[in-house]
Amino acid sequence: IRSDQQQAAAADCIMADGTRIEVFANLGSVEDAARAVEYGAEGCGLLRTEFLFLDRPAAPTFEEQRDVYRSIAQALGGRPLIVRTLDIGGDKPVPYLDQPAEENPALGRRGVRLSLARPDLLSTQLRAILASVPANQCRIMVPMIVDVAELRAVRALLAEAQAAAGSEDHVPLGVMIETPSAAVLADSLAEEADFLSVGTNDLSQYALAVDRGNQAVAGMVDALHPAVLRLIAQAAQGAATKGKWLGICGGLASEPRAAPLLIGLGATELSAVPAAVPEVKAAVRNLTTADCRALAEQALSLGTAAEVRTLLAEKS
Ligand code: PEP
Ligand code: MG
Repeated sequence: IRSDQQQAAAADCIMADGTRIEVFANLGSVEDAARAVEYGAEGCGLLRTEFLFLDRPAAPTFEEQRDVYRSIAQALGGRPLIVRTLDIGGDKPVPYLDQPAEENPALGRRGVRLSLARPDLLSTQLRAILASVPANQCRIMVPMIVDVAELRAVRALLAEAQAAAGSEDHVPLGVMIETPSAAVLADSLAEEADFLSVGTNDLSQYALAVDRGNQAVAGMVDALHPAVLRLIAQAAQGAATKGKWLGICGGLASEPRAAPLLIGLGATELSAVPAAVPEVKAAVRNLTTADCRALAEQALSLGTAAEVRTLLAEKS
């Protein structure tokens, strides 16, 4: 890539009416971070930390995690880094967790549930994040939240970790909106969370009662389903009433055609796979907020995902 093209790729993403939308990248390794910057990502909207925890006999140590988070923060060159706390469960068994087999792992002890059952794991992770990601770059996000009690429990562990580190910095703590419960209770969550980010993959799985991992039905997991869109709209309204920002970090944010819809629903941050960042930015730069809102209104009135898809195709 030539350097002028690189500069254009790296520039802030501003809509045609002057509104700023942050286009971030989802990362799952150290290598991803450098790639994301090359593709023009303005930060990381979801660091999936599971890669550190899977396929090994023992949990990663504080030092190991710290070094990895530091490498990623450095590769991002000071851009915001949203680290998601551990999101594993019965579907991703690890030997050191002694997890019982679950009949419905998607509904089992995964995400924040596991973290609160094993606060030693979460505390070590939080301490490693605080020790490695500069405070002005660092945001922490919690997966699989259903209500504010879980957020409070994580905040208490974060406060302990900060006290132990002698840190008085404000580190934003956000929640993922990936259960229907969290979407419906978004106003309550936004009262105490610093930001919300929609995980459209799991939100679709749970809203549509379709197992992401079951090949016979996985194709029905469709984030453009109007039921999912209404949940996202409700979450965005909840965030807005409390003055908090809402982003999207599930797969739908990687689809340039969905960008006007997601912005119209109220998202101000989109986190895509690194390779999709240039296209998402290009799509966003053509849009106005008024057009996005009108499109979202139309989509919310439809009855099926197919109708929403047709609407988006007509508009792009
Ligand atoms: C999601 O559920 O949309 C999400 C971003 O989390 P993951 O895909 O890692 O479950
Ligand atoms: Mg998820």
